[in-house]
Amino acid sequence: MARKKIIAGNWKMNMTPSEAVALVNTLKPLVVNDEVDVVFCVPAIDIIPVLQAAEGSNIQVGAENMYYEEKGAYTGEISPAMLTDVGVKYVVLGHSERREYFAETDATVNKKVLKAFEHGITPIICCGETLTQREQGVTMDFIRQQVKIAFQGVTADQAKTAVIAYEPIWAIGTGKTATTAQAQEVCAGIRACIAEVYDEATAEAIRIQYGGSVNAATAPELFAQPDIDGGLVGGASLKPDFGKIVNYK
Ligand code: PEP
Repeated sequence: MARKKIIAGNWKMNMTPSEAVALVNTLKPLVVNDEVDVVFCVPAIDIIPVLQAAEGSNIQVGAENMYYEEKGAYTGEISPAMLTDVGVKYVVLGHSERREYFAETDATVNKKVLKAFEHGITPIICCGETLTQREQGVTMDFIRQQVKIAFQGVTADQAKTAVIAYEPIWAIGTGKTATTAQAQEVCAGIRACIAEVYDEATAEAIRIQYGGSVNAATAPELFAQPDIDGGLVGGASLKPDFGKIVNYK
């Protein structure tokens, strides 16, 4: 069965709640394409207003992070139950910005992935190499390690429903998109890694996005690749351009 594409916006630390509502109202008529899953991953404070503004559309709402404990003395964190209680279906985990600025590690990503599945939230699990790692020729070794640790303890049935976002760090927010060939090569490598850890059926089912300066011009060729099942989009998800990306065909 063909995998349904999934195109997610990662708003990062942008958009006040009132700006968020205005953006959803602008984008709503532009993202009416039910052949793809469209997810807006937004700051925690924007989740409820965005859910309300997106009502009646095919926009789904995701969080940008989540903690791995159920509840308690973890000041500033968001629990999985807080997300599911309002109808959040997706959560971005292990984004390179969280790894770089907020001490996220492969081990904490794994704990969060397990917790997300426990609560029925689909994780969008980010991985990706630095420019130095690419130049040293260790891209695939590094990403295989990130992926293998992120999926430790995850069952094949759960893994089938997960989303992996391949985001080369050197391409995020830099305007430098990986070439289509580079993106496809790594996404195929990730799928092969999933086949090794689980089996062919799991590898065939899991969705793998590319992320890193995706825009309306680069999306069609990237998303046409056999192992690229959509994108995780930062900067361009805050603009009407996102409508063109969702309607990339
Ligand atoms: C991201 O933050 O996930 C991302 C891919 O950002 P950008 O599209 O701006 O490079």
